[in-house]
Amino acid sequence: MNQPTHAWLAVEAFRTIQRCSTTDAGKQHQLDKLAALLGQHLNDVVVAAWLPDALIKDMTYGHVFKTSKYDGSDGTRFIVSRADLKKGLAPAAFERERYLDKLPDSWWAAPYRVKDNGGHLPTRVTSLCQNARDMLKMGDTDLYGQCGVTIPAGHAAIADDLLCSSRDVAVMMWMTSHYVADAHMPFHCDNRNLASTSSVKNAHSKIEELWGAQVPVLLQAKSIGAATSDQILAAPLPDKSNFAGFSSANEIPPLKSGGDPWKEAVNICRASFALSFSLVPPEVAPVDDPSSSIPVSTRRSLASPPSTVIGSCAFPRSLPGSTSRRRDIRLRPWG
Ligand SMILES: [Zn+2]
Repeated sequence: MNQPTHAWLAVEAFRTIQRCSTTDAGKQHQLDKLAALLGQHLNDVVVAAWLPDALIKDMTYGHVFKTSKYDGSDGTRFIVSRADLKKGLAPAAFERERYLDKLPDSWWAAPYRVKDNGGHLPTRVTSLCQNARDMLKMGDTDLYGQCGVTIPAGHAAIADDLLCSSRDVAVMMWMTSHYVADAHMPFHCDNRNLASTSSVKNAHSKIEELWGAQVPVLLQAKSIGAATSDQILAAPLPDKSNFAGFSSANEIPPLKSGGDPWKEAVNICRASFALSFSLVPPEVAPVDDPSSSIPVSTRRSLASPPSTVIGSCAFPRSLPGSTSRRRDIRLRPWG
């Protein structure tokens, strides 16, 4: 995703936190304090949510979880049934569940595993979550004052110039949002050629280009610096944006898997991998494993359908109101 799209997703996450802070569950989890912390630094969101791409530059391993078929001897370890995967996903977060249902049982019966060099996305998610939590405990007095959080025991031992400001913590959380968003992008979790970003003409890049054109113009690094939180939250979507009417969940479900962000992220990535096959079925583009014994020439021919059908700007033409049923079906999750 491009910079404005990542910023827009982070702003929408903030909007959800703010809205949910008034519910009973939100009050119980003190979401109003989190909203207070993030809300005063909303104009950092464009730069901060983009730092992983602009500064950290761990895209090839930190932003992806490239999964493919598994040919090893202990394949049963890497079979995740549809029912088990659904149990590991937050119900409200996955409108995509109905897309998981579109995949045949045979797809679910096969073993899939992240490639050895397929990426550390869940690891990045959990490390950043923990960093943000630690930084909250190392906050300066302004942070505690602004957010109404009790200063934790042991805090007095930290030198003043080591303490974190609310802005430091907000930036860490905006950065975290980048990796969480990438985990939800189906092509970040699919090892097929169509999911590669090595060519600007492929489906992955084209779809992300389309998304970037459909978020508020205000969410550009140059224009947002002086904007207030109210202006950012009120920024209109462009005309004919497919995100018009988008509404996020009315509640923030607790993490599954015993509250482990790593396991949660692995399950999200696995669901994204499945969703990728729901969008572009295996009969169009088979599970492509470059390390398998399939000859290179055969793999090239197997991979050609997506690169010709999808990579030739078919997605941009078909986004709002496609005349092609096949394309329309594939695009529905974002349409
Ligand atoms: Zn990324």
